[in-house]
Amino acid sequence: MITMNGGEVLKIVNKHRMPPALLHAANASMYDKGDADVSVTELIGPMRIAMLSRMHDNKIEMDVRDMSLAMMGTAFHALMSDAAAFESNVISEERITMEALGTKVSGQIDRQVVSGNGVVIQDFKMTSVSALRHKVALFSSFAPLSAQPDWVQQTNLYAYLVNHVKRVPIIRIEVIAFVRDWSRLRADKDRSYPQSPFVTIRIRKFNKANQRRFLHERIKAYQQAMLHTEMHGDPPQCSLDEMWGSDDLWGIGGRKMSKEAAFSVFQRLPQEEKKHTFPQIVPGERKRCAHYCVVAPFCKQREDHEKYIRDTNRSILEMALIVGGGKK
Ligand code: SF4
Repeated sequence: MITMNGGEVLKIVNKHRMPPALLHAANASMYDKGDADVSVTELIGPMRIAMLSRMHDNKIEMDVRDMSLAMMGTAFHALMSDAAAFESNVISEERITMEALGTKVSGQIDRQVVSGNGVVIQDFKMTSVSALRHKVALFSSFAPLSAQPDWVQQTNLYAYLVNHVKRVPIIRIEVIAFVRDWSRLRADKDRSYPQSPFVTIRIRKFNKANQRRFLHERIKAYQQAMLHTEMHGDPPQCSLDEMWGSDDLWGIGGRKMSKEAAFSVFQRLPQEEKKHTFPQIVPGERKRCAHYCVVAPFCKQREDHEKYIRDTNRSILEMALIVGGGKK
C-alpha cells in the first residue's frame, strides 16, 4: 500500500515514460482508508498534509519514477499476505475501524498472530540500513508515546484498535523490517551491521490508558485542524520537525551565523566592501517540503517561506547598495 506523508496519493502520472506495466502497478498500490474519517497514518502525521490532501484531492499527482520504494513495499506486503494463507493462526491485512470522540478512525494491520494468550501485532517496513539505525536510535524507554518515533506511535495505535474492537489482549508489538540495501559482505565483516535483511524489532508497548490518551490527543489535533481550515481557508502550519527542517541562518562572506552577528560584521566592514558584501538569509533545509511532500505544490506555507527569503535578501541587497553608495 502507498501512504506518502500520511496523505493519499490520488493520481499517478508517468512523466518519465516508464513502461506502462509500472504505471498499472503503481495504481494498484493505492491506499484506501475505507469509510473512516481519518486513518492512523494520517493521525500520526502532520495535520497540514492531511488537510491539504483533502482540499486538493483531485489535483495531487505523483510520478511513477518516485514510487519505486513504495511499490517494493506493496509487493512485500502482498507476498507476506499470500504466505499468511499457510498459517491458520495469522490474520493478514485487516482493516479495523472504531469511533472515538465522534471521529471514525481506521488502521490496516499487516499481520496479527493469534494464540490462546492474545495477539501479536506485526507491521512490515521497507527501509535502508541507515534509516533503520536512525529510527532505532530514536526509540526511547522514557519518552511518552507522543514523543516516540512514528513506528512506535503507529503500531501502538494499531494495538489499541485491535484490543478495543476485538477485546483481545495484546501480547507484544513487532516491526518486521525488510532492509532493502542489506549486504551479505558487510554483515560477514561487521557484527554490528544487521545480520539479516529481515530484522524483527520489538516495539515498546504502552499501556491502554497511554494509548487511548495519545489517540485522543491526535483526534483532537485532527478536529482542531479541520476547524482551523474551515475558518481560515488554510490548515495549521507544519512545525520545523514535521518539515524535517533546520533553522534558517544568516551568511556573510561565506560564513554562517545568527542574524545579529551577520549585521554586526556588516556594520564593521569598510565602506567600499559594503558594496559587494552583505548579509543574506541562508535557508535551512526543509527536506520533506523539498522532496517528499505530495501537497507541496499547493502549500502556502512553503510558498510564503520561499517568498520571505527572496524578498528579504532582495531588500537587504538594495539597502546595502544604497548604504555602500552603489545605488543613488
Ligand atoms: S510542503 Fe512542507 S509545510 Fe507544506 S504541507 Fe508539506 S511538509 Fe508541510
